[in-house]
Amino acid sequence: MSNKRDYYEVLGVSKNATPKEIKKAYRKLAIKYHPDKNPGDKNAEEKFKEAAEAYEVLSNSDKKQRYDQFGHAGLGGGAGGGFGGGMNMEDIFSQFGDIFGGGGFGGFGGGGRRVLKGSNLRIRVQLNLEQINEGVKKKIKVDRLVNSENVTFKTCSYCNGTGQVTRVSNTILGQMQTSSTCSNCNGIGKMVDNKPKDSDANGQIRKNETVEINIPAGVEDGMQLKVSGKGNAAPFDGVNGDLIVVISIEEHPYLKREGNNLHYDHYISFSEAALGSSVEIPTISGKVKIQLQNGLQSGKILRLKSKGLPSINSYGKGDLLIHINVWTPQTLSKEEKNFFESAKKSDNFQPNPSKKDKSFFDRVKEMFN
Ligand SMILES: [Zn+2]
Repeated sequence: MSNKRDYYEVLGVSKNATPKEIKKAYRKLAIKYHPDKNPGDKNAEEKFKEAAEAYEVLSNSDKKQRYDQFGHAGLGGGAGGGFGGGMNMEDIFSQFGDIFGGGGFGGFGGGGRRVLKGSNLRIRVQLNLEQINEGVKKKIKVDRLVNSENVTFKTCSYCNGTGQVTRVSNTILGQMQTSSTCSNCNGIGKMVDNKPKDSDANGQIRKNETVEINIPAGVEDGMQLKVSGKGNAAPFDGVNGDLIVVISIEEHPYLKREGNNLHYDHYISFSEAALGSSVEIPTISGKVKIQLQNGLQSGKILRLKSKGLPSINSYGKGDLLIHINVWTPQTLSKEEKNFFESAKKSDNFQPNPSKKDKSFFDRVKEMFN
């Protein structure tokens, strides 16, 4: 299990905090622990990253909901490959446009010039249970915006490439200097000079690219895998956006997933229930032969240990739970009818559940323990 601190605790807000309160709390911490203010202070850097991660989750209603429900495990952190948890500095600074209202507080580039980040691309990938069990390498075709090679830039003449314009005004208190983002270049400091015909206004073109991604075993429906830098390029220069891979899981013909456990409905006849039988059970990794004992009750749940799915966050596998259903024939021949009529009179056929024939509710309780 992870020893991560609770995100609400990190930001020092209550679970009922409004988005505005969450943003405010984060802004305070981001300023306090900003690397520019704490050069070389590893502890401050850790605190800075921790706060950014907490904010990243709690400011996103989707992630927040998953976190509220499942804690850190719900975000699939710690699986490597930039999966949820752990943000790098570029990610953190690219968030600041939103927090600090753009410009001014850039993490790199310095001098107040804005650093652009390309937009993220989202793509849905459908996987079957077998792929979830093993993990899978997928080649995905993406249509990315990239900067055309033949585009040339010129320095913004308005701000001389600084991205900022400084105005000096005379007030009754004396001269006052105010600086603001250059409106001519939007704070970038440069502008497109010449661009090829096939590119857009920013000198960008669409390019089809194949991205290979490693999807770890045990992913869940709706999980998002981030491939850093494989989204759209930032116009001019800057940081590429990310490719967000949304996992979607195909239904299996007879195995039902529940967390890391799998469920399978197995039907047996009256006679098999009474006499016992040897049956083949399909698992995610091939068929398994098991012996069903005689006198098996309908509704019994048998557990095949570690025949479920691997967990994305920890070692070990879930189980396969076999639900035993006794099939009652819909019609009976004359002989069969006679047989059951006589069986009906036998004391042996009278239901007589003992404590060890657990009720449905007890079994469900046991399953979740
Ligand atoms: Zn400018």
